[in-house]
Amino acid sequence: MLNFLDVVFCIDSTGSMESFILEVRRNVIDMMREIKKTGLSVNFGCVFYGDHEHGRQEVVRFYELTNNEKTIETNFQGNTIFGGGDHPEAVADGLHLALNMNWRFGSKRVTILIGDAPPHAYARDSKDDYPNGCPCGLDPLKEAMKCKDENIVIYSIGVSKDRDMREAFNKIASITGGRYFELNEVSNLINIIIDMLRREVQKIEKEKLVYRSMKENKPLPLPTDEINEAKESLKKRGML
Ligand SMILES: [Zn+2]
Repeated sequence: MLNFLDVVFCIDSTGSMESFILEVRRNVIDMMREIKKTGLSVNFGCVFYGDHEHGRQEVVRFYELTNNEKTIETNFQGNTIFGGGDHPEAVADGLHLALNMNWRFGSKRVTILIGDAPPHAYARDSKDDYPNGCPCGLDPLKEAMKCKDENIVIYSIGVSKDRDMREAFNKIASITGGRYFELNEVSNLINIIIDMLRREVQKIEKEKLVYRSMKENKPLPLPTDEINEAKESLKKRGML
C-alpha cells in the first residue's frame, strides 16, 4: 500500500477541449509507464464531464481506476466529446464522481482536473444557465473539501485565459493542498502532468523512508518539518 499511486483524470469533455483530450489520449500509456519505472503500483482512472443542458441525461462519463493498459487505452478512445451549451460546465459533477472512484486503501491519491470553463455559479464574465449552481445541487468547492477529507489531492490545469475558471480552479486545488497550472499551448500539457505526478512520487518515496525509519527505530537525516509532513500523510493513508 505504501507503493500505491492512484490517479484520476477529470476532464472537461466539451467541444473546445478536443485538442487537449486528444493529447492526453495519445500519451496516457507512456505517462503511466514513465511513472511505473519508479517501481510504484500505478492505477489510472478517468472522468469526463459535460453539462446539464436541457435535462441532458449524460452529464458525466467515468472509467474506474485500473492498471490494465489496454483498458485505459480503450477508455480514452471512446467518444469523449459531448455536451456544451452555455460556457460554464458541470465541474462539480466531475469532482463528485472522481471522489467516488475505486481508490485503493492506503494509496496516494491524485485527481488531475483539466478544463477551460468555470463551474456553474462561479461565472461572472459569461452567461450561466444555472447562476445559482448546478441543478443537481452539487458545489465544486464542497466536493473539493470532501476530496481533501478522502486524502485526494487535486491538481488543476486551466487551458484558457478565463478568469472565472482560473479563480475557481485555483480554489479547488488549494483546498486539497494541490496546485493550479495554466497553459495556452497544448504542447506543454503532458510535461505539466508528468511534473505533477513526479511531485507525488517524491512524496511517496519520502513517506517510505520515514515509515521504515520508524519501524526500525533509526533516525533519518531529514528536516523535522519534512518528517512531520510525511508522518501526517502516512496517518491519513492509514499506514500509522
Ligand atoms: Zn451538476
